[in-house]
Amino acid sequence: MSPTDVPSQAGPAAAPVLQARNLAKAFGSNVVLRDIDVDIRRGQVVALIGPSGSGKTTVLRSLNGLEVPDAGTVTFGGTESEGGLSIDFGKKVGKKEIAALRDRSAMVFQHYNLFPHMTVLKNVVEGPVQVQKRPRAEAIAEAERLLERVGLADKRDAYPFELSGGQQQRVGIVRALALKPQLLLFDEPTSALDPELVGDVLGVIKELAEEGWTMVIVTHELAFARHVADEVIFMDGGVVVERGPAAEVLSSPTQERTKLFVKRLQ
Ligand code: ADP
Repeated sequence: MSPTDVPSQAGPAAAPVLQARNLAKAFGSNVVLRDIDVDIRRGQVVALIGPSGSGKTTVLRSLNGLEVPDAGTVTFGGTESEGGLSIDFGKKVGKKEIAALRDRSAMVFQHYNLFPHMTVLKNVVEGPVQVQKRPRAEAIAEAERLLERVGLADKRDAYPFELSGGQQQRVGIVRALALKPQLLLFDEPTSALDPELVGDVLGVIKELAEEGWTMVIVTHELAFARHVADEVIFMDGGVVVERGPAAEVLSSPTQERTKLFVKRLQ
């Protein structure tokens, strides 16, 4: 995929893609997010790390409306015609706004979430054709090109159950790319994979980073985060404990909780 193919690549490198402010979320009496801020610039890769249950997935899902925060704002940069959008979750948020938010990013899930009854090709073209109303022939050509790119051209007519976990996740990534989102969101994309399949998937994500895709990645793979991410956000107990350049946060964290976490995982 050439960088000119995707809306995320247009414009100056430092343009803000997304700004989230003061996100808060509780499930019943369980407060899972407090005052979370996230800033993502064009072409930036942000890794979200932290212990299990610290709220990483809830942040990621809040950025694209799969989860609706109780308070806070999410703003996509630019004017409205450039894809700009601002949502204040402190007010009543309608279905249309959530749909608009969901349009701007694409999620790659931990368990792939492919449609089991559809072929690989159909899984990939479903969103562009049914949701984005793009011409089917164009969507198919694009899907074939993307599948070729991740080494799965010969699997276009296979069903998900016929693929390994690593192959399914590469289809999951292709399905997200086919939507041409401004932002790619990865929710622990390799944690369900057998160890020998992790490298392939991380390799694809690394290539996307090198091409300039804007991404937020929830991951436990700290070596990968250090290598690929520009910025690391460390969360614990529903708050951001520390953030900064990946090498700094991972090699010389300033907060005790970050130090403990990084030490345990290395
Ligand atoms: P992480 O991704 O860091 O493991 P999560 O965002 O998945 O953390 O979860 C944070 C907290 O929110 C956990 O206590 C979890 O049980 C809770 N939680 C997440 N989703 C739901 C939900 N749909 N309903 C109730 N509780 C939830």
